[in-house]
Amino acid sequence: MQPKLFIDGSWQDATNGGTIDVVNPATERTFAQFAAGTEIDVDRAVAAAKRAGQSTWSQTTGRERAAILRAIASGIEHEQDELARLEVRDNGKPLAEAHGDIADTIYCFNLYADYAEDLDRKQGESITIPDDRFKTTVKYVPAGVAGLIVPWNYPLLMAAWKVAPALAAGCTVVLKPSEFTSLTALELARICRDAGVPPGVFNLVTGYGREAGARLAAHPDVRKLAFTGSVPTGIAVATAAAKDVKSLSLELGGKSPIVVFNDADLEQVVEWVMFGIFWNQGQVCSATSRLIVQSGIAGRLIERLAEEAKKITIGDGMTDGVLLGPLVSKTQYDKVMGYIEAGKREASLVCGGGRPAGFNAGYFVEPTIFTGVPADARIWAEEIFGPVLSVAAFKTEDEALALANDTEFGLAAAVMTQDLERAARVADRFEAGVVWINCSQPNFLEPPWGGMKHSGVGRELGTWGLMNFLEPKQITAYQSAEPWGWYLKDPKSR
Ligand code: NAD
Repeated sequence: MQPKLFIDGSWQDATNGGTIDVVNPATERTFAQFAAGTEIDVDRAVAAAKRAGQSTWSQTTGRERAAILRAIASGIEHEQDELARLEVRDNGKPLAEAHGDIADTIYCFNLYADYAEDLDRKQGESITIPDDRFKTTVKYVPAGVAGLIVPWNYPLLMAAWKVAPALAAGCTVVLKPSEFTSLTALELARICRDAGVPPGVFNLVTGYGREAGARLAAHPDVRKLAFTGSVPTGIAVATAAAKDVKSLSLELGGKSPIVVFNDADLEQVVEWVMFGIFWNQGQVCSATSRLIVQSGIAGRLIERLAEEAKKITIGDGMTDGVLLGPLVSKTQYDKVMGYIEAGKREASLVCGGGRPAGFNAGYFVEPTIFTGVPADARIWAEEIFGPVLSVAAFKTEDEALALANDTEFGLAAAVMTQDLERAARVADRFEAGVVWINCSQPNFLEPPWGGMKHSGVGRELGTWGLMNFLEPKQITAYQSAEPWGWYLKDPKSR
């Protein structure tokens, strides 16, 4: 693979020739390089996107865009095995999970193709207003050039969550993937070109966040910014957007609770709690990393979780049967290990707590569980983004909710109980944008996705995701034969 940027329909060198090494997190070996785009490269990409938006793309019908989105989906489908394998080498996740990501990516492009067609039907819809001398209709116009900045935990899928709705809406885009995982985004650029996306409509600038990302967030010709990443970076991006009054959506971090009541089915709880924290090595924004368990079931549950956690097969994501791969990078490994060391001082370690035996290379971390975690512990309050579960016990429902909601985050929350009235009550009282009852993490692409509090601004996915990239425009027409007669009228009769 050439270390190039994809700008205006062609592969181009970064202006200063800089590159970034790609390290396989399972082996710590460098196996590829990609271009480190600069501020000048971002400017070139935004200029190309602006030209393409002004010339043709924003004038296409939803139906025309749907055909291209479906061609992208089928291009990805055609290469799904290679893409899944590339994601494993780049990110470290187990191959079966990477296959799931690619399947969701295909689904995402097809779904937004459907929405693009629906958009044609919605254009010019009348709005009921209380004065029949007027007629009001609404049109949805593309927001303009969209800057899309994404993280490393689901590299291609997170890009798709933004690229698909942006293209469906008629926006032109500049995508900035994470400097840790840019390889599948480069493949996406090629697939978009082959699918017939016109030059300038999809641009890709790989590179560092502090340089390429920051310029994209601040560029005056970017009218819409869609960002997924950590809270501190989200605040920096939001600050840049505010200075230029850009439309903004933010999908940020989380520290989501899973509340387990005594009456819950123990084995179901074990399954969902493990899925909620060990899937994707715990590098999931909505990971239910805080287990809040009622005293009556706590002992048995922790015992079963520790038993099952110890059985998890750890290894290179390419190896059959592996359930837990390495963390994405040395930076993330050091960060997670730092939290584990803090946890050992703050709470009781039940299992895990370090590097698995026999692994001399790779960023591997054992599935780790801490109990008796106080509410002021760092491992309780801060997003670790690794396979580390923090457990605290409760007695009453009110106590559980107070613990669950006592966080700066508000992305997701889960409750496990056989009492469905209680489940509904707790779901209503959770301060979170996504709530799961008797499960954790299942995600569909039609409902809204996003968080409250510091977990974000706005919603992605479904039609909410499409609206992010559209400006609704009202057109109000006076249609009465009678003169309006406000000024041209005897003042006494007003
Ligand atoms: P990050 O904030 O470090 O980086 C995210 C992206 O922002 C990267 O592309 C990076 O290069 C870029 N960036 C960095 N500094 C920038 C700057 N100053 N200006 C503009 N862009 C900049 O996050 P990460 O470590 O890649 O991802 C992990 C975080 O993402 C976690 O907090 C996780 O919860 C969050 N996340 C949230 C969701 C969600 O849907 N809410 C989904 C996935 C990940």
